[in-house]
Amino acid sequence: MDTSSVGAARDLRVAVIGAGMSGLLCGIKLREAGYRDIAIFEKAERLGGTWRDNTYPGLSCDVPSHHYAYSFELNPDWTHLFSPGGEILSYFERVAGKYGLADLIRYRAEITRARHSGGHWELTLKDGTTEVFDVVISATGVLHHPLYPEIAGQETFAGASFHSARWDHSVPLDGKRVGIIGTGSTAVQIVSALVPRVAELNLFQRTPQWILPLPNPPYTEAEREAFRNSPQQMRETYEFWARRFQNTFARAVIGDREQMERIEEMCRANLENIRDPVLRQKLTPDYQVACKRLIMSDTFYAAIQQPNAHLITAGISAIEPGGVRTADGQLHELDVLVYATGFDGHAFMRPMEVLGEGGRSLTKAWEEGAQAYRSVAVPGFPNFFMLIGPNSPIGNFSLILIAEMQLAYIQKLMERVRAGECTSVTPTEEATVRFNTALKDAMKKTVWVSGCRSWYLDRHGNPAMWPWSFERFEREMRQPDYADFRLSA
Ligand code: NAP
Repeated sequence: MDTSSVGAARDLRVAVIGAGMSGLLCGIKLREAGYRDIAIFEKAERLGGTWRDNTYPGLSCDVPSHHYAYSFELNPDWTHLFSPGGEILSYFERVAGKYGLADLIRYRAEITRARHSGGHWELTLKDGTTEVFDVVISATGVLHHPLYPEIAGQETFAGASFHSARWDHSVPLDGKRVGIIGTGSTAVQIVSALVPRVAELNLFQRTPQWILPLPNPPYTEAEREAFRNSPQQMRETYEFWARRFQNTFARAVIGDREQMERIEEMCRANLENIRDPVLRQKLTPDYQVACKRLIMSDTFYAAIQQPNAHLITAGISAIEPGGVRTADGQLHELDVLVYATGFDGHAFMRPMEVLGEGGRSLTKAWEEGAQAYRSVAVPGFPNFFMLIGPNSPIGNFSLILIAEMQLAYIQKLMERVRAGECTSVTPTEEATVRFNTALKDAMKKTVWVSGCRSWYLDRHGNPAMWPWSFERFEREMRQPDYADFRLSA
């Protein structure tokens, strides 16, 4: 650690990329900490990240709403245990308004390149202009880039077609024949919402999913009133859901057999709700529960058993003007086709080009997979930090809490620079290798590598997850281990 040149305390110019949940958090917390020169760059015209992009019918968050909120901005007015997406977007808009973030956010401002040069970061915007900052925080989200399958004849489809994250609300659905490709968390929610509305719903399933039947009861007005009158009750509810999840599911996925057996039992019992044994067989996965992201729904099995719902398991061979042709030769005629085919969860801030010390490219550094030091920083990229970066605990945790803990950690590092103790902070190569070696080793015990295909795995088969307990994450985020960083004069 080189701290020989101690300078004066100084204001830092901070660029935050993205005005979703974690970018807004940066605006709030950095301003609270006295940072006066903050710019939040947002490529879209509106804030909200994933909650802005996803507007599909049935959208909700499967983290209980009272826990899926900033810890310092709890909300008494959630309407459901798992509230709908529109309500979550309104929550973020309201919080952004309350904290006066409007003057920090630059809309339609896509960053195409971040280049470290002369001890600073030069950001290039899509319009070619450049701006200089001392610190960059990438808050670009995980599930941001829609994935489309490559199926012959896609462009010939005569009806409307779109990805679930680009829902075209101008397309009528009532009384139509709708096809959905994919059976992930998204598709399951769409199916439950659409079956009562459409003439025919064809669900094209490549792989069945395990489904945990979590009910989604509404909160009564009396309950909301009680939350309004008792911040303590709200806090207790926030903490109840955090603990509940940490002690059960979070342990199960990293090797706690007892917890996993309970979840398996619930999923298997849930399948008994499928009356037709042939349909039940088609919906029964042949891999371990929670290997793919576990789906929470107590409505999907009822929906898929409706007479106008059809589960199609013959593989898709082509898309034609009239619909989807499957390998058994059948044409499934459709008016609307929805790609609920997921996202590239490994792109992070890319396609933005990030060039660190000596022109080192982040894309090149991540050729063998995205790697970071404790998810938040990368060697060779001084004063460049990430929220929800590689191997953040993204399973079924509330990403809001994760981002809060990561930002508090990053702020401690930034503080050294602001105090003039150094000009930049970068994790060492050695510490990053050590962290990632341990991570890879721990990954072997997790359910994600037990033999299934999922978006968790990158193209080398490495899960994008945190393989340890939540308690370990909490511990690691409490205080930076400065011996693992290079503090440059
Ligand atoms: P996903 O879980 O990645 O599922 C994509 C689906 O598309 C899979 O069923 C996949 O089949 C299928 N698929 C992909 N390419 C295909 C092809 N060429 N032919 C046929 N099927 C194909 O995506 P998602 O449902 O959008 O969910 C992504 C993540 O978003 C979730 O895991 C979760 O983290 C988050 N999410 C959360 C909520 C929530 O309630 N919190 C709701 C929605 C989404 P295979 O399984 O065979 O690959």
